[in-house]
Formats: sequence, C-alpha cells, structure tokens
Amino acid sequence: MEKTVDELKGVMECRKKEFGEEGKLLALCLSSRRNLCIHETVSKLDSREAVDAGCRERTSSWLRQEEEVPIEELDRQGKRCRFYENTSKTTQMEGVFTLEDLKHKGRREGVCPYFLAREFLLKAHVVVFNYSYMLDPKVANLVSSSLPPECIVVFDECHNIDNPCIESMSLNINRKLLDQAGAKLSELD
Ligand code: SF4
Repeated sequence: MEKTVDELKGVMECRKKEFGEEGKLLALCLSSRRNLCIHETVSKLDSREAVDAGCRERTSSWLRQEEEVPIEELDRQGKRCRFYENTSKTTQMEGVFTLEDLKHKGRREGVCPYFLAREFLLKAHVVVFNYSYMLDPKVANLVSSSLPPECIVVFDECHNIDNPCIESMSLNINRKLLDQAGAKLSELD
C-alpha cells in the first residue's frame, strides 16, 4: 500500500520537474486504527480489536457526555481522545500521504490520522486501501459504499483476491460461541 503511494509521489515530482507545477491532488492511504492510531495509550494496545475498542471508548457519541472538564484532563482519564476532538478543525488537505505521512501530520497538528483519512476519503482523488475495505460488507458499508459511482476501482495483485473474498464471508466459530448458541436454543425450546 505504501509502495503505491510512494510511486505516486514520484509521479508528482516528475510532473513538477517536467511541467513546472504539481497540480492539485489529494492521495491518501486508509488503514485500520491499529496502523494509524497515534494516541500514546490506545496505540500500545496489543491487538487490532483492542485498539478499535480503546478508540471507541473515547470517541463513540453515546459515551462522550458533555463535561465541563478540559479535554486534556478527560483524555488523561481515558474518556476522550484529544486528537479526535481536533480532527474536524482540518478543513483542507492537499498532497500525497502514506500511512507514515498521515501519522506525522497527526502528531504535528494534534489530529487523528485515522479519522482524518476517513474524513477526506470522499474528497481525495486517489485512495489506496486493503481489499477488505471494498469486499468485506462490514467494512465496506463504512468506507466504500459512499464512493461516487463514476470512481475507478483498481484491484492490484488481483490473483490474490480469492482469500480476502473467502475470509470476508467466513465466520470463526469456537467452543464458547457454540455453547452460547446451544443455550439460546434451549431457551427457545
Ligand atoms: S481517535 Fe485516533 S488517535 Fe484517538 S484513539 Fe482513536 S484512532 Fe487513536
């Protein structure tokens, strides 16, 4: 993913050299919170699920009560994320951004790279993301379902697409889940 965006950076540099101007372009990578989170506590959690949950605890609207306490204090108490609160202040974005570039921008400007990328997804000319953002219904509903119908979708390395398709439609079943399902069936009896 980073390679594609890096190559685009090279194209823009070449364009600048040849034509004397870069042209206005916004290109960005989108990835999971785990790959983009810069919060010093949440980003250190040890799994993708834990980072998602840690972030939601601080950002979900139903958990974010209005409180007369400075945001930094609420952040310290684990109730908010100060980066998230600042993200909507970014109203303009231009350039080519790898995941690292987004994180760098986030640290420099005190904004969340993940929500920044989500916010600018529909304004970007080029978006690079994992197959699952297009194929997995759970993620696609959040991300790619709102892309305009005239956008061009390129599946790079498409010979690898079968596994993501299978995974997105699969369900992991374990003993606990089976026991819970059995208990529910007994209740229905
Ligand atoms: S809002 Fe962004 S920086 Fe804050 S916890 Fe969530 S992913 Fe991390």
